[in-house]
Amino acid sequence: MENGKSPAIKSTNSKMASQELISKLENTIENIADFPIPGIQFKDISPIFLDPQLYEEVIEDLVAFSKGKIDAVCGIESRGYLFGIAIAVALQVPFILIRKKGKLPPPLVSEKYDLEYGSAEIETRKGQIKKGQRILIHDDLLATGGTTEAAAKLVKKQGAKVVQFSFLIGLKDLKGEERLKRFNAEIYHTLEY
Ligand code: AMP
Repeated sequence: MENGKSPAIKSTNSKMASQELISKLENTIENIADFPIPGIQFKDISPIFLDPQLYEEVIEDLVAFSKGKIDAVCGIESRGYLFGIAIAVALQVPFILIRKKGKLPPPLVSEKYDLEYGSAEIETRKGQIKKGQRILIHDDLLATGGTTEAAAKLVKKQGAKVVQFSFLIGLKDLKGEERLKRFNAEIYHTLEY
């Protein structure tokens, strides 16, 4: 940091979801304690899909964040597909699947990353991400940011630029946003816990 000033990075975004939408989502998303392992507060988004109107409002909110700013959406397996494809269709841009190792046929581009115990790998089909494209990386929830960070590296190594990250939910205690700041992209979540 020069002159004690903050670096000029667009790490956050001034857009905010309406309080009405946030309240509806808070009343709909279920918190399940100690799932899948003790200590985790699992956010179950599946009740959103029982309410088509609420789903539509969520898509409108996420679309408003990305409108006019992106050339393609990369969705992270698997819950990143639930909203990601609808965002891409609304903006009439391509949707690219980022999948866990072993699910997509070759040719592939891969990225390894560390988990708390061991490591994992994510992949896209080679040629689907084009050089110079402005990419939105989307997932349902930002926790530690480990998977999203690996997704951003995977996009960058194909010559495209990560310009935005969006999530329905951000878990602020896990500091995922801190981890994504170095990509110098806008970050948005509809609601936060
Ligand atoms: P991370 O790489 O730690 O940011 O984890 C993000 C991924 O794990 C997302 O795709 C979520 O679907 C899932 N996830 C992590 N924590 C939770 C949680 N508390 N509730 C629901 N899903 C979660």
